[in-house]
Amino acid sequence: MLGGGSNLVIGDAGFAGTVLRVATEGFALDGTRLTVAAGEVWSQVVDRAVLDHGLAGIEFLAGIPGSAGATPVQNVGAYGQEVADTITEVVAYDRRAGETVTVPAADCGFAYRHSRFKAEPDRYVVLRVTFRLSDEDGASSPVRYAEAARALGVAPGERADLCAARETVLKLRSGKGMVLDPEDHDTWSAGSFFTNPILTEAEHAAFLARVTERLGPDAQPPAYPAGEGLVKTSAAWLIDKAGFTKGYGAGPARLSGKHTLALTNRGAATAADLLALAREVQGGVAEAFGVTLVNEPVMVGVEL
Ligand SMILES: Cc1cc2nc3c(=O)[nH]c(=O)nc-3n(C[C@H](O)[C@H](O)[C@H](O)COP(=O)(O)OP(=O)(O)OC[C@H]3O[C@@H](n4cnc5c(N)ncnc54)[C@H](O)[C@@H]3O)c2cc1C
Repeated sequence: MLGGGSNLVIGDAGFAGTVLRVATEGFALDGTRLTVAAGEVWSQVVDRAVLDHGLAGIEFLAGIPGSAGATPVQNVGAYGQEVADTITEVVAYDRRAGETVTVPAADCGFAYRHSRFKAEPDRYVVLRVTFRLSDEDGASSPVRYAEAARALGVAPGERADLCAARETVLKLRSGKGMVLDPEDHDTWSAGSFFTNPILTEAEHAAFLARVTERLGPDAQPPAYPAGEGLVKTSAAWLIDKAGFTKGYGAGPARLSGKHTLALTNRGAATAADLLALAREVQGGVAEAFGVTLVNEPVMVGVEL
């Protein structure tokens, strides 16, 4: 199943089978209830919702490549917003049962970059997704992400201008090489290559001890509550502090010069080149901090 192919790492040997690319179209608004066909381009869905209809709820997800149908698969998120915040239901074809099913949000198994669609990759074909957006008279959703709040000149938790929120996110994403520019190899990536690790309290305590031992008592790894005694830290921070700084690498695959979390193709990298770099980074972080990074992109015919 292929949407836009923006979250895939496909082995150099290719895939010996039938690939189905979803190319359906449809954008239907009923009040603030938006239903989109799986094949719609996600960034255009955001643009239409924000710019044409003044609706809030997905504005911080502007500029994320790929299709609308893939957004529930890994519960796409950025800048303090994720699609699980607004999805009300997903209509999917269940290949096991051979029927079309309507899955309410509560049954989608949404978690950080995860869902039941990702958990059972060969089972569901997402056909359409319904979101409950909101009309806030030109204001955005509350700004949850500190970097976005700073850039918008509001306090975290406050609302900003809706269109300014979208534009700000696009600028922040460009600054990190997260908007494709064919001229700029720093943007030739699958986005964030690793998810942010989620640690139990005990794992977090052991991690902090390792950080102090290696970097001294003043080192402050980012820590965000991730529910029920869990703490999320930053994969980009870990990679940088393990010695893999921006631009790291000498071959055709290197870390982006703008963001340590993006593994980039400098023009002629193979999947093997990319995975060799990924393994080096993963191994280096594990050795330095005892945390094993997990890949975010879906691997086809290869493993990390
Ligand atoms: C520069 C860049 C920046 C990115 N930034 C972010 C970000 O900020 N946040 C974030 O969450 N992600 C980000 N991503 C990852 C990616 O954009 C998202 O995961 C996106 O949802 C993938 O969409 P796609 O259509 O390209 O999916 P594909 O790469 O085509 O597929 C991804 C997975 O979803 C499955 N899939 C696709 N469509 C369907 C369908 N209709 N039904 C069932 N399964 C399906 C595929 O089989 C595959 O397993 C980024 C990627 C890039 C390249």
